[in-house]
Amino acid sequence: MNLLKKISNLSTLLSIPHSISHSISHSISHSIPQQVYPGIFVIKQGGIFGAFRPPINIYLLAGSDGIIFDAGYGQRLSASYVAREIKKIGSLYKSNGTPFKITRILVSHNHPDHFSGLALLRKYLGVKVVLTRKIANMLKSKHSFASNFYPTNKQMYYKKNSLRGLVNKLLHLIYPLLFGITVMPDPDQIIDDNDNAEISINEERWIIFHSPGHASGHISLYNAQKGILLAGDNVLRVIHTWLGPPDSNIDTYIETLKRYLLLPKLELILSAHGSPITDCHRRIKQLIDHRDRRAKLVFDIICSSGKEGITMESILKELYPRQGIVKQELARGWIALTIDSLLKKSLIKNHHDKNSRLFSSCNKLMSAKIT
Ligand SMILES: [Zn+2]
Repeated sequence: MNLLKKISNLSTLLSIPHSISHSISHSISHSIPQQVYPGIFVIKQGGIFGAFRPPINIYLLAGSDGIIFDAGYGQRLSASYVAREIKKIGSLYKSNGTPFKITRILVSHNHPDHFSGLALLRKYLGVKVVLTRKIANMLKSKHSFASNFYPTNKQMYYKKNSLRGLVNKLLHLIYPLLFGITVMPDPDQIIDDNDNAEISINEERWIIFHSPGHASGHISLYNAQKGILLAGDNVLRVIHTWLGPPDSNIDTYIETLKRYLLLPKLELILSAHGSPITDCHRRIKQLIDHRDRRAKLVFDIICSSGKEGITMESILKELYPRQGIVKQELARGWIALTIDSLLKKSLIKNHHDKNSRLFSSCNKLMSAKIT
């Protein structure tokens, strides 16, 4: 479907004011970012190397006191692209006589694809950087960022002196270049981590919804009147969010998903990766079921290993027998967290051999207790 048709269908679906959708249609040659809801635009930053540097959505809540949600990658080219796209939207608004001023930028969490562009976007657009206290603490220095982002080999249950463990450590040296990681020691405003703090955006009330699990400081933006949730990385339309040490928690993540289901009105989820979600409850329930099934699968594999137990490497091979190393390594994080959760609930136990930790079950009959 071409872009023109897409926008015209979308504007019908979402009742975008005619003046704006008309201008958008006329501006195709200037490729204005997609308006996913009246006044909300998505700027898509491209990715490379698949899941290692994925494409990301940056949202602009446009209006007289607008906000940018998430900052994307930190390379000069990436940030200047975002700034240019925002300026295009500004020109469109101004040509319609609609007030347009973007005053702030806020990020959903402390992962590099979400915050690295903060410093440059502040410089290019003159916006204020607003962070919650928890995220601000994580981004105040390279050290605080690293200790909340890079897992140790022990946390990921790598075999001692393994090649894969070595590659894991080498990747940590490459990430700053890959993402353009730039920390933020001097945000302009810090919001206390009160649950459900309110923020006024374009004279509308939005709630800063604390939604930990994927990252402990993760926040979402929720507008109860419109039923819109900017869910960051927590709910993605097609893929499953990455989970892993040191900062994710699988049980907290499921709690967050369940809290989303309790929101009084939820009609549109705008995610940091992928397209908008309109069947919100169905997708959230799918994600909860998926995590539940995966936890049971890991538990069953550990139970089948008998008294000798099983290593992380063997669990990976059983779960992903035909997939390559990359797929296995991307999954290592959630498996490590699932193991941590099972250990905490005393459903499994572990012991060491010379190079690895081995996991064995306490009692299969307790599997009902997993979730
Ligand atoms: Zn993330």
